[in-house]
Amino acid sequence: MDFSSKLLENAVNEVSRLPGIGKRTALRLVLHLLKQPKESTKFLTEALNVMRNEIKTCRKCHNISDTILCDICANPKRNTEIVCVVEDIRDVMAIENTAQYKGVYHVLGGKISPIEGIGPQNLQIESLVEKVRSGEVKELIFALSSTMEGDTTNFYIYKQVEKYDIVTSTIARGISVGDELEFADEVTLGRSIINRIPFENSLKG
Ligand SMILES: [Zn+2]
Repeated sequence: MDFSSKLLENAVNEVSRLPGIGKRTALRLVLHLLKQPKESTKFLTEALNVMRNEIKTCRKCHNISDTILCDICANPKRNTEIVCVVEDIRDVMAIENTAQYKGVYHVLGGKISPIEGIGPQNLQIESLVEKVRSGEVKELIFALSSTMEGDTTNFYIYKQVEKYDIVTSTIARGISVGDELEFADEVTLGRSIINRIPFENSLKG
């Protein structure tokens, strides 16, 4: 791509670093910004800067939050004895959208993936096992996507908590293996949380 402006080229290069954004799309976005009043670009960059600098991780569930304790963990109406294990905030948002779940979450921050060099120590697994060990958890619901990495992660955690007196279940999804949780429709996802199955049963299948 030949640019007549170095300033334009720099902006396009930065935008095209984002996942799923090629050079052509980046150019279209940047040209769009150029046509808008200067304030639009200011609001955009300010929102990104403030988010980047001030965002926190909930000290209890590790979800992205504006406060030390996220709204879900801080809500006295939520049942803290039921913990839904998810990969990231997108899963929390998807499950919250169903309005079917009244427990809390534990956000792992990813899945075990030897190919990508992500091991259990890179995820919030130890803190989850600690929650179980302390006796504050009565049920763990595994809600990771049913990919090989998701299954591996579920099984690893299951092995760590098996010896404790808790119920482990997995959401029974009516969607095909490999579909990511965030893409599941609300009705299906809501139903699968209500109709969750004992984790042991999922191992036999
Ligand atoms: Zn939280």
